[in-house]
Amino acid sequence: MKGKISRYMASFVAMGIMAAGPLHAGGPTSQDLVDDAKSTGDVLTYGMGPQGQRFSPLTKLNADNIKHLVPAFSSSLGGEKQRGQESQPLVYDGTIYVTGSYSRMFAFDSRTGEKKWEYDARLPDGIMPCCDVVNRGAAIHGDKIIFATLDAHLVALNRLTGKVIWNKAMADYQAGYSATAAPLIVKDMVITGNSGGEFGIVGMVQARNVETGELIWERPTIEGHMGTLHGQPNGMTGKLNASWPGDMWKTGGGATWLGGTYDPETNLIFFGTGNPGPWNSHMRPGDNLYSASTLALDPDTGVIKWHYQTTPHDGWDFDGVNEFIPFDATVNGKAMKLGAKADRNGYFYVLDRTNGKFVSANKFVMQTTWANGINAKTGRPNFIEEGRPGAPVVNAKGETEKGKVVFSSPSFLGGKNWMPMAFSQDTGLFYIPSNDWGMEIWNEPIAYKKGAAFLGAGFTIKPIAEDHIGALRAMDPKTGKIVWEYKNKAPLWGGVLTTAGNLVFTGTPEGYLKAFDAKTGKELWKFQTGSGVVGSPITWEQDGEQYVAVMSGWGGAVPLWGGEVAKTFKEISQGGSLWVFKLPKD
Ligand code: CA
Ligand code: CA
Repeated sequence: MKGKISRYMASFVAMGIMAAGPLHAGGPTSQDLVDDAKSTGDVLTYGMGPQGQRFSPLTKLNADNIKHLVPAFSSSLGGEKQRGQESQPLVYDGTIYVTGSYSRMFAFDSRTGEKKWEYDARLPDGIMPCCDVVNRGAAIHGDKIIFATLDAHLVALNRLTGKVIWNKAMADYQAGYSATAAPLIVKDMVITGNSGGEFGIVGMVQARNVETGELIWERPTIEGHMGTLHGQPNGMTGKLNASWPGDMWKTGGGATWLGGTYDPETNLIFFGTGNPGPWNSHMRPGDNLYSASTLALDPDTGVIKWHYQTTPHDGWDFDGVNEFIPFDATVNGKAMKLGAKADRNGYFYVLDRTNGKFVSANKFVMQTTWANGINAKTGRPNFIEEGRPGAPVVNAKGETEKGKVVFSSPSFLGGKNWMPMAFSQDTGLFYIPSNDWGMEIWNEPIAYKKGAAFLGAGFTIKPIAEDHIGALRAMDPKTGKIVWEYKNKAPLWGGVLTTAGNLVFTGTPEGYLKAFDAKTGKELWKFQTGSGVVGSPITWEQDGEQYVAVMSGWGGAVPLWGGEVAKTFKEISQGGSLWVFKLPKD
């Protein structure tokens, strides 16, 4: 009898071990998150892997059969809060987690779409999101699902019930801080950036204990500010006044508002930094480190290991926050650990991710009026001085007037904005959601005031092409050449997904989720979701079938800041729905 019980117990334990990994009762571990790109039965991280490649090895759904793809269900976020839905869903253990506009989180059954729970952050009056009330996604770990809110809080919920486990303020929303990015979880730490670069805030990366929310380290992104580790000073960022005049560094911007990626191979996390403050560059001579840069940080201490500044002395709001995606390739016969970033300034950069050394930079948009290429020796832009808006001038009456207006391309909304690109391990190509547009821009006088916009600039966005603004472009990182492009009338504002099924997915403001042949760019499939698609699609395998999901809901920065461009697309309906697709069973 005793033997029988122990045999029974042994097989029970063995079954338990087999079911371990993504399905054990404790929930995903930090190691599960590292392995997310390979585990096709779940989507545990923003970026479908901490590297953010947004590549799935699944092939059940492919270029040959995608014409049969149909909706499995759609789930509404409901309410009156139907603004931009820029979220990327997560999928774990029969649940799809999505964040929604106005700092909401939802859990839906991944087979039926039925709502399991909803959490609405109680936002104070006076929040200052610059660019719509969006949220880009959550992070999952153990029993928790974690997201950032518009009042610059970080909230951990019980993933089964939606009840709050901890809630921490990351910064003072009354000073213009907010948060919209999906957190990054590395080694049981939640690592976040901050938003507010238009309000004279200071960019910051923070790491917290995932179980308690307690701060472990913080690293400001602007030179002169002190980092901390376990509450103790941990070295100044850069060297005081090395690239900033006077006290301008104190309100220097450099918001890390898009979050980061993680490369377990080099043990580095990569965060991009936004525009320096104010936009008026004449007030802050110098490179203004580390604004408009990519920073590689040690996840254990928050120390900066290397930096690469894409737009030194930015004068166009070319935030350098875009995702830096680790990938490997052979360059000039040498196997290299690389990383790539399609910058808001219109150039696609490839760097050696072990040390930040420049490898190549190529234009991925129609036009760059501010620089004529990137110097391969120095890695710095060849600036076109006439492309910089002029300093405000004092007239004969002694009044200060706006400076010389220049036409600039890309516009401040960028050759690429927040929407993440994808890298296919199959084709070796990056798929960049880009936009071709320009702006008139000028500078005005400005003084810092807590909680007020800190721009010192004015602008009007304009189209530069007859037939399109948006362009999904396949970039070969080895040659810097565009292999194919798909042009879209409205600006593209959604993320990209690619799969080993030779597919590339992205959404359009016109309401479609579209799929393309990854090698040729031929449009293979589209589905009208009823509102603009500005979220990031995902794919996973469930019950032997391959699923695709995306959020629908028009909004984001374009309708708010798009000038002439926004007028053209004011007829697009608001929305707030999760759409899930699969092939019919027969
Ligand atoms: Ca996975
Ligand atoms: Ca900005």
